[in-house]
Amino acid sequence: MTRIYTLVNQKGGVGKTTTAINLSSYLGKAGQRVLLIDLDSQANATSCLGIDHATVSAGTYEILIGQIPAAEAVLHNTSLQLSIIPSSSALAGAQIELVEVAGRETLLRDAIKNLKGRYDYILIDCPPSLGLLTINGLTAASHGVIIPIQCEYLALEGLTQLMRTLRRTRVALNPGLTVRGLLLTMFDRRTNLSRDVVKEVQKHFPENVFQSIIPRNIRLAEAPSHGLPISAYAPNSPGAFAYQALATELMRGDNIGQSGIVADNKE
Ligand code: ATP
Ligand code: MG
Repeated sequence: MTRIYTLVNQKGGVGKTTTAINLSSYLGKAGQRVLLIDLDSQANATSCLGIDHATVSAGTYEILIGQIPAAEAVLHNTSLQLSIIPSSSALAGAQIELVEVAGRETLLRDAIKNLKGRYDYILIDCPPSLGLLTINGLTAASHGVIIPIQCEYLALEGLTQLMRTLRRTRVALNPGLTVRGLLLTMFDRRTNLSRDVVKEVQKHFPENVFQSIIPRNIRLAEAPSHGLPISAYAPNSPGAFAYQALATELMRGDNIGQSGIVADNKE
Protein backbone atom coordinates (compact mmCIF):
# COMPACT_ATOMS: atom_id res chain seq x y z
CA MET A 1 0.00 0.00 0.00
CA THR A 2 1.20 3.49 -0.83
CA ARG A 3 0.43 6.16 1.72
CA ILE A 4 0.21 9.63 0.24
CA TYR A 5 0.50 12.53 2.67
CA THR A 6 0.42 16.19 1.72
CA LEU A 7 2.23 18.87 3.71
CA VAL A 8 -0.06 21.87 3.72
CA ASN A 9 -0.44 25.28 5.33
CA GLN A 10 -1.12 28.39 3.29
CA LYS A 11 0.93 30.34 5.80
CA GLY A 12 4.48 30.81 4.53
CA GLY A 13 7.61 29.71 6.33
CA VAL A 14 6.02 27.37 8.87
CA GLY A 15 8.24 24.36 8.11
CA LYS A 16 6.39 22.51 5.34
CA THR A 17 9.48 21.97 3.20
CA THR A 18 11.81 21.29 6.14
CA THR A 19 9.36 18.64 7.30
CA ALA A 20 8.86 17.18 3.82
CA ILE A 21 12.64 16.75 3.36
CA ASN A 22 13.52 15.44 6.78
CA LEU A 23 10.51 13.23 7.33
CA SER A 24 11.09 11.71 3.88
CA SER A 25 14.71 11.11 4.66
CA TYR A 26 14.06 9.36 7.99
CA LEU A 27 11.31 7.24 6.44
CA GLY A 28 13.85 6.27 3.76
CA LYS A 29 16.47 5.44 6.38
CA ALA A 30 13.92 3.23 8.12
CA GLY A 31 13.70 1.14 4.97
CA GLN A 32 10.58 2.70 3.48
CA ARG A 33 10.47 3.42 -0.24
CA VAL A 34 9.82 7.15 -0.31
CA LEU A 35 8.98 9.61 -3.07
CA LEU A 36 8.89 13.33 -2.36
CA ILE A 37 6.96 15.50 -4.81
CA ASP A 38 7.85 19.19 -4.94
CA LEU A 39 4.59 20.98 -5.76
CA ASP A 40 5.95 24.48 -5.17
CA SER A 41 7.35 26.79 -7.87
CA GLN A 42 9.81 28.11 -5.27
CA ALA A 43 11.35 24.62 -5.65
CA ASN A 44 12.78 24.72 -2.13
CA ALA A 45 12.48 20.97 -1.59
CA THR A 46 14.32 20.47 -4.88
CA SER A 47 17.18 22.80 -3.88
CA CYS A 48 17.29 21.38 -0.33
CA LEU A 49 18.29 18.06 -1.90
CA GLY A 50 21.09 19.71 -3.85
CA ILE A 51 19.31 19.83 -7.22
CA ASP A 52 19.62 23.04 -9.23
CA HIS A 53 15.99 23.80 -10.10
CA ALA A 54 17.09 25.91 -13.08
CA THR A 55 18.24 22.67 -14.76
CA VAL A 56 14.97 20.82 -14.20
CA SER A 57 13.18 20.15 -17.49
CA ALA A 58 11.31 17.02 -16.36
CA GLY A 59 9.52 17.79 -13.13
CA THR A 60 6.17 18.45 -11.49
CA TYR A 61 5.13 21.02 -14.09
CA GLU A 62 5.79 18.68 -17.01
CA ILE A 63 3.83 15.84 -15.40
CA LEU A 64 0.89 18.13 -14.56
CA ILE A 65 0.55 19.36 -18.12
CA GLY A 66 0.81 15.77 -19.35
CA GLN A 67 4.05 16.31 -21.26
CA ILE A 68 5.77 13.30 -19.65
CA PRO A 69 4.69 10.37 -17.50
CA ALA A 70 5.43 10.83 -13.78
CA ALA A 71 7.93 7.97 -13.73
CA GLU A 72 10.16 9.92 -16.13
CA ALA A 73 10.41 12.82 -13.69
CA VAL A 74 11.59 10.74 -10.73
CA LEU A 75 15.18 11.33 -9.60
CA HIS A 76 16.61 8.79 -7.18
CA ASN A 77 19.32 9.59 -4.67
CA THR A 78 20.86 6.28 -3.66
CA SER A 79 22.92 7.56 -0.75
CA LEU A 80 19.91 9.34 0.74
CA GLN A 81 17.56 6.40 0.00
CA LEU A 82 15.08 8.90 -1.36
CA SER A 83 13.38 9.76 -4.65
CA ILE A 84 12.04 13.14 -5.70
CA ILE A 85 9.98 14.63 -8.47
CA PRO A 86 11.65 18.04 -8.64
CA SER A 87 10.07 21.37 -9.35
CA SER A 88 11.11 24.46 -11.25
CA SER A 89 9.88 28.01 -11.71
CA ALA A 90 7.84 26.77 -14.71
CA LEU A 91 5.29 25.62 -12.13
CA ALA A 92 4.50 29.27 -11.35
CA GLY A 93 2.59 29.51 -14.63
CA ALA A 94 0.62 26.32 -14.07
CA GLN A 95 -2.01 27.98 -11.93
CA ILE A 96 -3.08 30.20 -14.84
CA GLU A 97 -2.34 27.83 -17.71
CA LEU A 98 -4.44 25.05 -16.22
CA VAL A 99 -7.46 27.14 -15.36
CA GLU A 100 -9.34 26.04 -18.48
CA VAL A 101 -8.29 22.39 -18.31
CA ALA A 102 -11.02 19.89 -17.50
CA GLY A 103 -10.28 17.96 -14.32
CA ARG A 104 -7.63 20.49 -13.36
CA GLU A 105 -7.97 19.66 -9.65
CA THR A 106 -7.12 16.00 -10.14
CA LEU A 107 -4.15 16.32 -12.50
CA LEU A 108 -1.58 15.30 -9.90
CA ARG A 109 -3.62 12.39 -8.55
CA ASP A 110 -4.13 11.09 -12.08
CA ALA A 111 -0.50 11.66 -13.07
CA ILE A 112 0.93 9.67 -10.15
CA LYS A 113 -1.60 6.83 -10.27
CA ASN A 114 0.91 4.56 -12.00
CA LEU A 115 3.53 5.19 -9.34
CA LYS A 116 1.37 3.71 -6.62
CA GLY A 117 2.74 0.42 -5.40
CA ARG A 118 6.32 1.44 -6.18
CA TYR A 119 6.53 3.43 -2.95
CA ASP A 120 5.49 2.99 0.67
CA TYR A 121 5.21 6.73 1.16
CA ILE A 122 4.64 9.64 -1.17
CA LEU A 123 4.98 13.05 0.49
CA ILE A 124 3.83 16.18 -1.33
CA ASP A 125 5.24 19.59 -0.45
CA CYS A 126 2.73 22.39 -1.14
CA PRO A 127 3.27 26.10 -1.79
CA PRO A 128 2.06 28.70 0.73
CA SER A 129 -1.36 29.25 -0.84
CA LEU A 130 -4.71 27.55 -1.22
CA GLY A 131 -4.65 27.82 -5.01
CA LEU A 132 -4.94 25.19 -7.70
CA LEU A 133 -1.59 23.53 -6.96
CA THR A 134 -2.46 23.01 -3.31
CA ILE A 135 -5.92 21.71 -4.29
CA ASN A 136 -4.11 19.17 -6.48
CA GLY A 137 -2.00 18.25 -3.46
CA LEU A 138 -5.10 17.80 -1.31
CA THR A 139 -6.90 15.76 -3.94
CA ALA A 140 -3.92 13.42 -4.26
CA ALA A 141 -3.55 12.96 -0.47
CA SER A 142 -5.02 9.47 -0.18
CA HIS A 143 -4.04 9.16 3.49
CA GLY A 144 -4.45 12.72 4.69
CA VAL A 145 -2.61 15.94 5.31
CA ILE A 146 0.13 16.90 7.72
CA ILE A 147 -0.18 20.51 8.85
CA PRO A 148 2.98 22.11 10.21
CA ILE A 149 2.25 24.89 12.70
CA GLN A 150 4.96 27.29 13.74
CA CYS A 151 5.12 27.94 17.50
CA GLU A 152 4.87 31.68 17.00
CA TYR A 153 2.46 34.55 17.50
CA LEU A 154 -0.74 34.01 15.44
CA ALA A 155 0.11 30.34 14.97
CA LEU A 156 -3.54 29.38 14.52
CA GLU A 157 -4.31 32.22 12.13
CA GLY A 158 -5.57 30.85 8.84
CA LEU A 159 -6.36 27.41 10.23
CA THR A 160 -10.11 27.99 10.01
CA GLN A 161 -9.75 28.83 6.34
CA LEU A 162 -7.52 25.80 5.80
CA MET A 163 -10.03 23.50 7.50
CA ARG A 164 -12.79 24.95 5.31
CA THR A 165 -10.73 24.21 2.20
CA LEU A 166 -10.13 20.68 3.45
CA ARG A 167 -13.87 20.18 3.97
CA ARG A 168 -14.71 21.49 0.50
CA THR A 169 -12.07 19.32 -1.11
CA ARG A 170 -13.36 16.30 0.81
CA VAL A 171 -16.89 16.88 -0.45
CA ALA A 172 -16.02 17.65 -4.05
CA LEU A 173 -12.85 15.77 -4.84
CA ASN A 174 -11.41 13.45 -2.20
CA PRO A 175 -13.94 11.84 0.16
CA GLY A 176 -11.17 10.14 2.13
CA LEU A 177 -9.34 13.39 2.94
CA THR A 178 -8.37 13.46 6.62
CA VAL A 179 -5.99 15.36 8.85
CA ARG A 180 -3.21 12.89 9.64
CA GLY A 181 -1.76 15.29 12.15
CA LEU A 182 -0.78 18.80 13.13
CA LEU A 183 2.94 19.19 13.65
CA LEU A 184 4.32 21.83 16.00
CA THR A 185 7.50 23.32 14.54
CA MET A 186 10.22 25.77 15.56
CA PHE A 187 9.44 25.25 19.23
CA ASP A 188 11.61 27.32 21.54
CA ARG A 189 11.44 25.93 25.06
CA ARG A 190 12.82 29.16 26.51
CA THR A 191 9.77 31.18 25.56
CA ASN A 192 6.34 31.23 27.17
CA LEU A 193 4.91 31.94 23.73
CA SER A 194 6.06 28.59 22.34
CA ARG A 195 4.64 26.75 25.33
CA ASP A 196 1.33 28.66 25.03
CA VAL A 197 1.03 27.76 21.33
CA VAL A 198 1.58 24.07 22.12
CA LYS A 199 -1.13 24.19 24.78
CA GLU A 200 -3.56 26.05 22.55
CA VAL A 201 -3.09 23.74 19.56
CA GLN A 202 -3.43 20.65 21.78
CA LYS A 203 -6.60 22.13 23.31
CA HIS A 204 -8.19 22.85 19.93
CA PHE A 205 -7.18 19.57 18.30
CA PRO A 206 -6.83 17.08 21.17
CA GLU A 207 -6.56 13.98 18.98
CA ASN A 208 -4.74 15.37 16.00
CA VAL A 209 -1.42 16.71 17.24
CA PHE A 210 1.77 14.71 16.76
CA GLN A 211 3.54 14.04 20.05
CA SER A 212 6.84 14.76 18.34
CA ILE A 213 7.52 18.50 18.48
CA ILE A 214 10.19 20.02 16.25
CA PRO A 215 12.48 22.43 18.11
CA ARG A 216 13.92 25.57 16.60
CA ASN A 217 17.37 24.36 15.64
CA ILE A 218 19.90 26.23 13.55
CA ARG A 219 21.18 22.96 12.06
CA LEU A 220 17.81 22.45 10.36
CA ALA A 221 18.14 25.88 8.74
CA GLU A 222 21.74 25.25 7.68
CA ALA A 223 21.27 21.81 6.13
CA PRO A 224 19.57 23.03 2.89
CA SER A 225 22.57 25.18 1.94
CA HIS A 226 24.58 21.96 1.87
CA GLY A 227 21.91 20.22 -0.21
CA LEU A 228 21.38 17.66 2.53
CA PRO A 229 18.66 16.49 4.87
CA ILE A 230 19.44 16.79 8.58
CA SER A 231 20.10 13.02 8.79
CA ALA A 232 23.18 13.53 6.62
CA TYR A 233 24.19 17.03 7.73
CA ALA A 234 23.90 16.91 11.53
CA PRO A 235 22.52 13.53 12.61
CA ASN A 236 23.15 14.20 16.31
CA SER A 237 21.40 17.56 16.48
CA PRO A 238 18.13 18.13 18.36
CA GLY A 239 16.39 18.79 15.03
CA ALA A 240 17.57 15.44 13.69
CA PHE A 241 16.32 13.56 16.74
CA ALA A 242 12.96 15.32 16.49
CA TYR A 243 12.42 14.42 12.83
CA GLN A 244 13.57 10.86 13.46
CA ALA A 245 11.01 10.63 16.29
CA LEU A 246 8.34 12.03 13.97
CA ALA A 247 9.10 9.39 11.32
CA THR A 248 8.87 6.66 13.98
CA GLU A 249 5.61 8.10 15.31
CA LEU A 250 4.13 8.26 11.81
CA MET A 251 5.13 4.68 10.99
CA ARG A 252 3.82 3.40 14.32
CA GLY A 253 0.50 5.14 13.69
CA ASP A 254 0.48 3.60 10.23
CA ASN A 255 1.10 0.17 11.80
CA ILE A 256 4.58 -0.15 10.42
CA GLY A 257 7.26 -1.46 12.77
CA GLN A 258 10.64 0.26 12.96
CA SER A 259 12.14 -2.46 10.79
CA GLY A 260 9.85 -1.23 8.04
CA ILE A 261 7.72 -4.36 8.11
CA VAL A 262 4.02 -3.81 7.75
CA ALA A 263 2.47 -5.30 10.86
CA ASP A 264 -1.11 -4.96 9.77
CA ASN A 265 -1.85 -5.59 6.16
CA LYS A 266 -5.43 -4.54 5.90
CA GLU A 267 -5.96 -1.79 3.37
P1 ATP B 1 7.06 28.25 2.31
O1 ATP B 1 5.69 28.52 2.77
O2 ATP B 1 7.78 29.47 1.80
O3 ATP B 1 7.15 27.09 1.37
P2 ATP B 1 7.75 26.43 4.42
O4 ATP B 1 6.46 26.36 5.17
O5 ATP B 1 8.06 25.35 3.47
O6 ATP B 1 7.87 27.84 3.66
P3 ATP B 1 10.40 26.09 5.42
O7 ATP B 1 11.01 26.54 4.15
O8 ATP B 1 10.49 24.67 5.77
O9 ATP B 1 8.90 26.59 5.51
O10 ATP B 1 11.00 26.91 6.65
C1 ATP B 1 11.09 28.34 6.62
C2 ATP B 1 12.47 28.77 7.10
O11 ATP B 1 12.65 28.37 8.45
C3 ATP B 1 13.60 28.10 6.33
O12 ATP B 1 14.66 29.01 6.23
C4 ATP B 1 14.00 26.92 7.20
O13 ATP B 1 15.36 26.56 7.04
C5 ATP B 1 13.74 27.47 8.59
N1 ATP B 1 13.31 26.43 9.52
C6 ATP B 1 12.33 25.52 9.35
N2 ATP B 1 12.18 24.74 10.42
C7 ATP B 1 13.13 25.16 11.31
C8 ATP B 1 13.47 24.75 12.65
N3 ATP B 1 12.83 23.78 13.27
N4 ATP B 1 14.49 25.41 13.26
C9 ATP B 1 15.13 26.43 12.63
N5 ATP B 1 14.84 26.85 11.40
C10 ATP B 1 13.85 26.23 10.75
MG1 MG C 1 8.15 25.38 1.37
